[in-house]
Amino acid sequence: MPSAVGDRLARAGVLGLQGDFREHIETFRRLGSDAVDVRRPEQLDAIDALVIPGGESTTIGKLALHYGFIPKLRERVAEGMAVWGTCAGAIFIARDVPGHPHPLAGLMDIRVRRNAFGRQLDSFEADLDVPQLGSEPFHAVFIRAPLIESVGPGVEVLAKLDDAGTGAPGSEATIVAVRQGNLMATSFHPELTHDGRFHEYFLKLGRS
Ligand code: GLN
Repeated sequence: MPSAVGDRLARAGVLGLQGDFREHIETFRRLGSDAVDVRRPEQLDAIDALVIPGGESTTIGKLALHYGFIPKLRERVAEGMAVWGTCAGAIFIARDVPGHPHPLAGLMDIRVRRNAFGRQLDSFEADLDVPQLGSEPFHAVFIRAPLIESVGPGVEVLAKLDDAGTGAPGSEATIVAVRQGNLMATSFHPELTHDGRFHEYFLKLGRS
């Protein structure tokens, strides 16, 4: 089905330094957007929306620093490019990650804790209520997921995890998807299911 984002699709790219970038590119292609694999900072000039995929945030941070991505990323975000970090990507774009040893882009006003769900919950799946995507729940896959511990005043919470029975930290619902203007972070992996609604929503952020 072609994307219902209106007259023009955002020109999307996926940071292809490390992690599961191919799955994101495939999802965008299913939606009718010819997303590119971004390997060099100057490619950011040709896109309106960039996904930073899941993988290993320390590796993504080191490679992004090595290839000179971080200043260019900040510059393009200030110009309106949308950025969506999934899992390790969410860690990379967070402003505050206590104890994280490696370079971070620090774009989004959120505090994130790595590997927050404990060993026995390295991976799990959950159906999330995401009002922005409609009434159908979104089936979310979590893999060594980070937790969004707190958000700044300009950050909108898109989804929370009902912690009952997950053993997740804290007794209240845990934040797992957020948006701040043209920035979005999810602690799970929408590219690993066949539901393209988060990708479609993100293309709209890149278009606005
Ligand atoms: N635990 C990983 C990290 O800290 C993230 C895992 C993922 O992206 N699936 O980088």
